[in-house]
Amino acid sequence: MNIGQQVLKQLKEEITESEYNRYIRQLVYDAKKSTSDLAIFYAPNALVSNWIQSKYSEKMAHLFEVNNGSKVSIKITLKNSTDRRKVIKKSEKKISHSLLNPSHSFDNFMVGGSNQFAYAAVKNVSENAGNVYNPLFIYGGVGLGKTHLMQAAGNVFENQGKNVIYTTVEQFLNNFIRHVRNKTMDRFQEKYRKCDVLLIDDIQFLSNKDSIQEEFFHTFEALKGDGKQIILTADKHPKKIGGLEKRLQSRFEWGLVADIQPPELETKIAIIKSKCSINKVQLSSDIINYIATVIDNNVREIEGILSKLHAYSQLMHIDIDLAFTKNVLKDQIQENKTNLSLESITSSVAKDLNIKPSEIRSKGRSKNIVYARRIAIYICRNLTQSTMPQLALYFGMKDHTAISHTLKKINSLIETDEDFKTKIDELTNKITSSS
Ligand code: ADP
Ligand code: MG
Repeated sequence: MNIGQQVLKQLKEEITESEYNRYIRQLVYDAKKSTSDLAIFYAPNALVSNWIQSKYSEKMAHLFEVNNGSKVSIKITLKNSTDRRKVIKKSEKKISHSLLNPSHSFDNFMVGGSNQFAYAAVKNVSENAGNVYNPLFIYGGVGLGKTHLMQAAGNVFENQGKNVIYTTVEQFLNNFIRHVRNKTMDRFQEKYRKCDVLLIDDIQFLSNKDSIQEEFFHTFEALKGDGKQIILTADKHPKKIGGLEKRLQSRFEWGLVADIQPPELETKIAIIKSKCSINKVQLSSDIINYIATVIDNNVREIEGILSKLHAYSQLMHIDIDLAFTKNVLKDQIQENKTNLSLESITSSVAKDLNIKPSEIRSKGRSKNIVYARRIAIYICRNLTQSTMPQLALYFGMKDHTAISHTLKKINSLIETDEDFKTKIDELTNKITSSS
């Protein structure tokens, strides 16, 4: 028995039989590719892989340490050849640029009003490399599909046999530093200036890094001069990226600048349906609608939610229905609702308790006003990012100490007063599910 198998056997002793049978049993240890500091296991699909990585990898690392006395990172990956290739390359530390993710394709990118302009621009560029918009600059918030779209174009180019480089600013910079140190800058320049397509993700990280901006400028000029396609992404418009040389900033706008906006409900629903079918998770439409309504705009969260639902339902032998979904997502949704405003919370509390919002914010001392004010303050504290001084200002209290006293009082009430607690729960749920 090799060490990987031994660790799995020990893990079996530490978890329930059903957890073992559903998840751990499916893992295969790769004794050949694993090294003294990296243990590689294959999982049959992405959901199992994510779930094991997040739930068990710490335990597994601990067991490795107990068995062979040294610290090991655990890598749970998919068993197909592309992923294996990635792992091997990574462990040999050979890669100088990331591989493209083959599942980032145009086909599985859901298009709606929020992203159709960016989609059309990237698609067009993928059909006319170097000839239409060069550079193409895509910008938008986190998790809205910038990397997905850029890599979709990369995959098209790669399938045409083009030499595609996909890199982050960080990798570009690290590579640069290494070549400067080894006095092999000619090789660095050869590599980046002679590729067919250059994709640089999250270009905002060039900000204030002068030497790499200089190098990037020359790379850009060389590629552009040769009619080679450049695609860039960032979290904001080139004009809004501070600490960027003027000549770079203006070049970023030479081709086309396209933005991606947060998806509207319909697009979110389409994305959830598509992720369900890719991950072979079946959800009824009321659940899909619910998820689409409650998640905030970061599409990346959808995959996490699906994997969480799947895992819970497997572990607890419960079919995924709406009540179950609400329960599983409770914490996550409350976290997301940090964009609720003090006004909206106060007015919901006021409405429910039949008093005016202005009374909640007044200095009134009558019993029902104090009661409503406490509830509003407590919920605002939990569901918004407001600081104590901000709360004090909003609720007309003297200063943050006054708020802090009130919160202490509320917390002790929650411990002792069942009705108060129930009211807080009820209103919190109402507010988080209606917004
Ligand atoms: P960004 O680079 O903008 O932060 P990503 O491209 O990494 O975001 O997208 C985050 C996740 O959401 C990825 O798994 C991606 O496949 C998925 N995604 C984002 N937008 C869409 C979409 N319109 N259709 C399908 N999947 C999407
Ligand atoms: Mg990205």
